[in-house]
Amino acid sequence: MSRLTAEEAQLLSEVSAERVWAHAEALARWEKVSGTPGELAAVDYIQAQLEACGLKTTRYEFESLLGWPESAGAEIRSPERRPMRAITHGLVPSTPEEGLEAEAVYLGAGREADFRGSEVAGKLVITEGMPSPLKVLLAQEHGAAGLIGIQEEHIHELCVSPVWGTPTTKTARNLARIPVISIGRADGEYLKGLLKAGPVRVWVRARTFWGWRKTPIVVGELAGSVEPEKFVLFSGHHCSWYFGAMDNGAANATMLEVGRVLGAHRGHLRRSVRIAFWPGHTQGRYSGSTWYADNFWEEIYDHCVLHVNADSTGARGAEIYHALCMPETREFALGVIRDAIGREAYAERMPRAGDQSFWGHGVPSIFMSLSLVPPELAAERGQSQLFTAAGEAGPVRGGLPWFWHTAEDTIDKLDPEVLVRDTKVYLLAVWRAAVEPVLPLRYGETARELKETVEAYQAAAGGAFDLGPVVDRVRRLEGLVAEVDRLAERVRVEGTSEEAVRAVNAGLVGLGRALVPVYFTAAGPFDHDLAVPVPPVPLLEPVRRLRELRPDSDEARFLKTELVRNRNKVMFFLRQAIETAGRTIAAVREVSGDQAD
Ligand SMILES: [Zn+2]
Repeated sequence: MSRLTAEEAQLLSEVSAERVWAHAEALARWEKVSGTPGELAAVDYIQAQLEACGLKTTRYEFESLLGWPESAGAEIRSPERRPMRAITHGLVPSTPEEGLEAEAVYLGAGREADFRGSEVAGKLVITEGMPSPLKVLLAQEHGAAGLIGIQEEHIHELCVSPVWGTPTTKTARNLARIPVISIGRADGEYLKGLLKAGPVRVWVRARTFWGWRKTPIVVGELAGSVEPEKFVLFSGHHCSWYFGAMDNGAANATMLEVGRVLGAHRGHLRRSVRIAFWPGHTQGRYSGSTWYADNFWEEIYDHCVLHVNADSTGARGAEIYHALCMPETREFALGVIRDAIGREAYAERMPRAGDQSFWGHGVPSIFMSLSLVPPELAAERGQSQLFTAAGEAGPVRGGLPWFWHTAEDTIDKLDPEVLVRDTKVYLLAVWRAAVEPVLPLRYGETARELKETVEAYQAAAGGAFDLGPVVDRVRRLEGLVAEVDRLAERVRVEGTSEEAVRAVNAGLVGLGRALVPVYFTAAGPFDHDLAVPVPPVPLLEPVRRLRELRPDSDEARFLKTELVRNRNKVMFFLRQAIETAGRTIAAVREVSGDQAD
């Protein structure tokens, strides 16, 4: 059952199929590689369209380290000679002009354990699926000469740099230093067949662009009328591989249409809305959103209430909806999809991908890719965190379509109906977050997941490390947060007073500032973790390794020291959350005359 208000139903009916399609068509005209004239033309179009709808726009320019492939070759050299179809990737080095030849070693999925059990130094490592930043890190840590991914029939372009945003002196050492190539499935299977019979030598050559280019961020703003300093950040990248009709022209079209409809109702916005278009996502590993995150750190920390991200909307055949979210935004995300378009979605933990550059600030977030195609139309399955493994229990899970990150991502791959449907979901999400007096955040689930995670880590550590104080603290937090949620729900339903609304919201924002960094980051508020999968409560996760190590080894002692420091960080943030919850409960009770049950 849809729970749309009359005003929301009216709002959604104003999404114009013609307008959103016209934007998608316009944006599909340019190849939008970051740092090139095509990207600039798209940004000029976006900015003009925002201004035509009465949004105040600002353009920022910054220097971004970018990389893209220019050409690649690969060949089996012995026991027989056979050329292979190959591409290289973004933000990886070139090989010497003459290429490089080495013995090949096959490592299956290329997990950490696969590397640990093999001798790869000086060899070309072959792994299943798309090369990933984690595989690049593992390959170079183990001294590999290069990395080759076996993709499917369609070979997808990728930026495989492990460093999130523009590197620093500390993170630059994690940039890719080895050549990275992808080959197709047929060549990959042939190569694997030869490897079963004996040693195989492979030659690869890669030419890449690697350098600094000026890139533009455009932000369109609608001012709220009650709390104009608070804002919802609605973002998506504008750069692409090739024409990027779906990724990300369609999502940019969605963002423009959301801006237009919201602009027509701006008088109803309680909070401001910032619609931000990032460069350097596709060829710079999120350099645009990271630049914004770094350069407006305090403003975001003080005032950003939610980050909504749009990526790859409107694909033909995209009938499956998934809500990438955090525990505190899960109910909101699923409810928005249900109410806007009558679909049941499945929720997944927000992955370390796609311009999620605001976790350190403690900004809760929802969505990235939203509508997915069924497995038979998907780019790849089971190889990347964006593609769920086949055979998993639960709802039918989709993937990004086969043409994703290829020259085939053109306007004919979009479906106007899907594009309108996806746009309605985003419109309702941003609207509710900007309009509803009480923020749509519920931290009870967050506290519960934190508790379960820390308890599981304690069990895994056995007697090797004491997480008891953390367990005690998250249990205490759980009780307090349940009360915050109860009071927030009451204010939400009964709409008591502006003072009560503000007291609740201050609490909900404060809980995010403390708990998002704990649950999603190791780097903390002021830095960015690498672009590799992040486990829940990453600071404590290494406790799992402790029992495998000899207690008197250097490594065990180093790890214990590290874990003590990490435990301090987690305890510090949990204390901050507990204080915030306590203050919020007292404040809301005081202004609403509520007594504890
Ligand atoms: Zn994208």
